[in-house]
Amino acid sequence: MNLFEVPQPSVPVAGEDGAFPVHRIYCVGRNYAAHAREMGHDPERMAPVFFMKPADAIVHSGATIPYPSQTENFQHEIELVVAIGKAGRDIAAADALEHVFGYAVGIDLTRRDLQLAAKENRGTWDTAKGFDRSAPISALHRVADIGHPDSGRIWLSVNDVIRQKADLNELIWSVPAAIAELSTFFALIPGDLIFTGTPAGVGPIEVGDKLTGGIDGIDQIAITIS
Ligand code: MN
Repeated sequence: MNLFEVPQPSVPVAGEDGAFPVHRIYCVGRNYAAHAREMGHDPERMAPVFFMKPADAIVHSGATIPYPSQTENFQHEIELVVAIGKAGRDIAAADALEHVFGYAVGIDLTRRDLQLAAKENRGTWDTAKGFDRSAPISALHRVADIGHPDSGRIWLSVNDVIRQKADLNELIWSVPAAIAELSTFFALIPGDLIFTGTPAGVGPIEVGDKLTGGIDGIDQIAITIS
């Protein structure tokens, strides 16, 4: 018997009553060259950066998210999200897409001031990246319905003004390459999500802002900051 009722975070699956239970949220950093440059890095010389958010950071599209504590530079990062549907470790890139259940559109919400301070002080990114409600996500769409999108417009607007606009084909570590590399560090299992990194144009958001974003061929997402 459980001492407490602990909710199981999940993501709705388009066209189904059932939901996808979230096990872990992995994130890839610096995965578009122009964004790596805007953060002051040389994209040519970098291995992928992996970090995690807690599973219960998931928030569904349409939510209102309170401006978080302990930051004065709260930022958006629109990202392709991969959902794992088949377990594996040391997965070959050539086999990686067999492990994908589906795709969604996510926003990697970030306390940028804390992330910059962590980089400066060689600290961790947990409070910058893994805070409450830091992972809004659209519905998941099964591979059977949408295939494996490897190109298409990815965009984010704040109050209807475009901030981020790029194409999925600009990913430095493609979805198969990211799955292969991540699976050398962790055994991936059904329920894992991978936020695959954001293109250039990240910036601050304020109380009252309405964020909308999308990826052609997948879905759109909308959140409001209160
Ligand atoms: Mn990110």
